[in-house]
Amino acid sequence: MKLATFITDPGSEPLGGVVSGERVRAFARGADAVRDVLAGRIGTDTDLGEYGLADVKLLAPIPNPGTIYAIGLNYADHIAEMGHDSPAWPTVFLKVASSATAPGGPVVKPAVVTQLDYEGELMIAIGSGGSAAAYCIADDVTGRDLQGREPQWVRGKGADTFCPFGPWLTTADEVPDPGGLTIKTWVNGELRQSSNTSNLVFGVETLLAFISETCTLRPGDLVLTGTPSGVGHGMKPPRYLQSGDTVRIEVGSLGHIEHSVS
Ligand code: MG
Repeated sequence: MKLATFITDPGSEPLGGVVSGERVRAFARGADAVRDVLAGRIGTDTDLGEYGLADVKLLAPIPNPGTIYAIGLNYADHIAEMGHDSPAWPTVFLKVASSATAPGGPVVKPAVVTQLDYEGELMIAIGSGGSAAAYCIADDVTGRDLQGREPQWVRGKGADTFCPFGPWLTTADEVPDPGGLTIKTWVNGELRQSSNTSNLVFGVETLLAFISETCTLRPGDLVLTGTPSGVGHGMKPPRYLQSGDTVRIEVGSLGHIEHSVS
């Protein structure tokens, strides 16, 4: 099942919907509808109307997420391009909840950031019991200059709009092998990242078990699993995102997100 959050008109109330082909059927009102499904609090049988996907605006599937966990340095090729050694344990950091934004963006570059970068990633959405309930696609947008000069990555990774994700959540029963998904990122149509989640150093179950050693994963929490090589910072010379750029990320059968930069 594909769970989306969308609006039908600018300023209208968000709706939770089930996506089927080019259509989406609303099943509940409010921005927390999809999270409530993941938590087992509501079902999706209610029919509040059906719309063409092209006629609605998709929001982040969980517009107001709980904790956004992220994993740094989790693909061997990315570790190499960033000049690091392979870690013995996952590198866990947090993105601020207000970084969550619609799959189409826009990602807005703060004036203080001069080195804006993309990181195409597989994202896990947590359900009841701390389980991997669903998957989607995210861009772990990063201000490399802030990330590089500040010991904490909160500002460089957690700025407003620095976490576009979607386009919808695909429930885990439809993703039998999250460790075997192609992952590709384009900037303005140019392929920059091309890998497979089989190259993750730490896989989905390992990551959730690791985080759960100290933190209770709750429905509506999100986990970004890391990015493969090909980020702008790793190029010689580096190629950072500019206003007007478009970033497209595809992951396996999860669809794609495509966001603008302003
Ligand atoms: Mg990342």
